[in-house]
Amino acid sequence: HPKLKDVYTFENFIIGDNNSFAANAAVAIAKNPGTGYNPCLIYGGVGLGKTHLIQSIGNSVYQEFPDKKIIYVTMESFTNEFIQSIREKTQNQFKNKYRHADVLLIDDIHFLQNKTETQEELFHTFNALYDNNKQMVFTCDRPVSEIKDLTDRLRSRFERGLNVDLQPPSYETRYAILKKKIEASGITIPEESIELICSNITTNVRDLEAALTKLIAYAELVSRDITPEITKQQLKDFFANPKQKNITIDVIQRMVASYFNLSSQDLKSKRKTKAISFPRQIAMYISREVTEYSTTEIGLEFGGRDHTTIMHGCTRVADRMKSDPTLEPMVKQLIRQIKEEST
Ligand code: ADP
Ligand code: MG
Repeated sequence: HPKLKDVYTFENFIIGDNNSFAANAAVAIAKNPGTGYNPCLIYGGVGLGKTHLIQSIGNSVYQEFPDKKIIYVTMESFTNEFIQSIREKTQNQFKNKYRHADVLLIDDIHFLQNKTETQEELFHTFNALYDNNKQMVFTCDRPVSEIKDLTDRLRSRFERGLNVDLQPPSYETRYAILKKKIEASGITIPEESIELICSNITTNVRDLEAALTKLIAYAELVSRDITPEITKQQLKDFFANPKQKNITIDVIQRMVASYFNLSSQDLKSKRKTKAISFPRQIAMYISREVTEYSTTEIGLEFGGRDHTTIMHGCTRVADRMKSDPTLEPMVKQLIRQIKEEST
């Protein structure tokens, strides 16, 4: 499809807790356009995969239903085209084009803010398509309720169908995304470098990709093997806004140990009794959440443990949080205390 990027497919989209609702909705829509979740609005912050998902719907429908007329457009292009059609007196063509789509995909509808006439036009397009059971999907960088100056009638149209959000990816999802892109590149990147990227770039997938792209380019153009040192050096601008720098693993161990009436030494020791190993895993989890150390570095601070042991510990705590509602508040409370202690 001329307007869609080939790489934006469901196969290339890594699913995690943060995006599974939106991703599964997108897949369902692509299988049965117009019959289920209509309209669908996917919202979330920058670089979280909105464009990837909405274009994946287009690419999938294009494959499965070649006869359907798919229109993908950004809200900005729609607006410019609309203005141009007024200027050139080709409004009928404009209306015809959009009101005869089978699948209309509009990216970044927050651009509608303060565009009264475009809102009016989209309202009529919406009604024409909706009445004919044509699929519409929109993306937005915030919930529709937060777009200023959106007419109530258009707002209520957007809110009529399914509204799903994309959240920032968890450590595990970031890791899976990087692994997949590294495999595709054919370049070898050491485990510790991958961990460094995952622990320092936390809020958006676009930055994660950009950091990796830079590292791969470095390996290719300078013909050097990537090491953790090179990773830190080359990605220092990406890592420039690190987590609170002054938090040490030492303080984390001290605070966690004292909460459980243990000593820091217990956490570093090899002892595996339940009374020690779970607090130890909590300390590992917090270390990974609030410091910029890689899991390899964290392992060294926990009596020379392997990075996979740290990963495993973190996963166990994350899993327990899902089943035990008291755990998350407790960990958050500990993190607050650790931050206070570190200022
Ligand atoms: P948005 O439109 O929300 O700002 P994009 O869809 O442009 O974000 O995503 C930014 C980049 O991150 C794209 O290259 C996209 O392919 C990639 N990306 C985002 N989420 C995922 C994911 N879950 N799996 C794989 N790649 C992703
Ligand atoms: Mg986008």
